[in-house]
Amino acid sequence: MAAEEKPYLTGRTYIFRMKKGEDLLAAIVDFCHDNQIKCGVINAIGAVQNATMGYYNQKKKKYDKHVLDEELEIASLMGNVSIMDNRPMVHAHITLSDDEGGIIGGHLMSGTKIFACEIFIQELVGNPKVRKKDKATKLPLWM
Ligand code: ZN
Repeated sequence: MAAEEKPYLTGRTYIFRMKKGEDLLAAIVDFCHDNQIKCGVINAIGAVQNATMGYYNQKKKKYDKHVLDEELEIASLMGNVSIMDNRPMVHAHITLSDDEGGIIGGHLMSGTKIFACEIFIQELVGNPKVRKKDKATKLPLWM
């Protein structure tokens, strides 16, 4: 931990079932906006009807999009909430498994439709992390 980092306190804790058919990322973002969650950690398990993930191409400095039109398990979703452009921003990665137990994963993008999903969101109270475009990576990173 960097010397200037201050510890966070745990705030509100949410655990709930997400609606079938909703866009997974958009639904998480909406929940955080509606509840003004500015900083926190997210995890979820469940299943999706299809998936859209990104892979950040470090040479091109842009996301390659990976669209999977198949029914998959959410073996794991991990993410966080912080602030970008004065609004809560969700950054999440997802690990998906297929009918043979094969695993694929990446940066969660909109275009991932929920079949069933149990989500846990832990708000953290303190100075929210703020994202700004990082020159070296061209990614919106925590300052
Ligand atoms: Zn990512």
